[in-house]
Amino acid sequence: MAGPSRDSLADTPAGRTLLGLLDLAGKDFRRDEVMAWLTGCPVRPPRGKESTFSPSQWDAISRQAGIVGGLDQWQTRLEAFELQTMAKADSGEAAEELSVGRAAAMRASAGIAGDLREFIKDLSIAVAAPPPGSSWPTFCEWASKLLEGYIYQPPSTGDNNKQAGLEQDKKRIAQILDDLRAADSINPSASEEEFKQVLTDSMQVHQGHLGPTGQGVFVSSFASAAGMSFDAIWMLGIYSLAAQQLVPGASRFQAAYWFTSGGGGFQFAPPDFFDISDDDTAQRFREGALHIVSGIQAGVFPANPGPFSNENFANCRYCDFDRLCPARRGDIWERKKHDPKVVSYRELAEDGVQTDLDGEV
Ligand code: SF4
Repeated sequence: MAGPSRDSLADTPAGRTLLGLLDLAGKDFRRDEVMAWLTGCPVRPPRGKESTFSPSQWDAISRQAGIVGGLDQWQTRLEAFELQTMAKADSGEAAEELSVGRAAAMRASAGIAGDLREFIKDLSIAVAAPPPGSSWPTFCEWASKLLEGYIYQPPSTGDNNKQAGLEQDKKRIAQILDDLRAADSINPSASEEEFKQVLTDSMQVHQGHLGPTGQGVFVSSFASAAGMSFDAIWMLGIYSLAAQQLVPGASRFQAAYWFTSGGGGFQFAPPDFFDISDDDTAQRFREGALHIVSGIQAGVFPANPGPFSNENFANCRYCDFDRLCPARRGDIWERKKHDPKVVSYRELAEDGVQTDLDGEV
């Protein structure tokens, strides 16, 4: 089997900024959602407003202005707040009810409300998705512009590691978008939802770290297994059985995973499809499932770290128990693996093990 790294591009600041923008697209611009994105991501300040840009101040002002959601509220309520605050500052100062400093601060708040109003207006235009049926390159171009336009690259005086990381992540996202353009060859048109889903999946999958890990039985949630490749994919068998139940009249059921990004080459895995209508395949699937179920019933969960290389065991690299399993896990497996109780597990996990075991146990 092969597995992903633990890093997810979707969780990086650059990834969160872009996916947050895509989340805002087509929605009602709810104040809490907009502010969660603005205060939680490295968002680029509007041009010329770098020195006064403060998401937390925007948060406070939008709250004072009574905005709940909807583009109309962002425009009308911020404008009303702006005008009222200016008028109060002028009249308070004229009546000597406000100090000069307080009046200046109120005018500054009014100005910031104006900046926020403009920002939201521009944002609403930027996140408007291409119409349904547009090509994949059109959707990719849209996302590329959002990526370039809204992710803030701090000045070079800041944390160099952070800067390099952000730049690197932006490049990786740009690469995914480049790859996605090729999806046109499979389906010439896309919808906003389809594009968002595929991009999100591609950023959550850890394609850059695919590689052989070792032998074993990997039991996980489907989300954890996404992007991994296996010699035997039991999920496809389970999906095939479900499809058989759902479509009782059909005579053939073939299943495969589809890599939805260029990192996986938009390939199907397995390329010749898992075909449960084939008697041999169905038989192997039943035997494998039986091994797994009987192993679970018997409580056989041997910790099998696989071969050691690159300072770690192959199977442990992607395992949540890596910090819990004892350092002597390799020795322990070597001792336990000849126990007759693990025969069924090894038959499933290792090619040709039955022959070995016949001689060993
Ligand atoms: S960490 Fe432990 S349970 Fe996980 S693969 Fe390694 S040996 Fe097995």
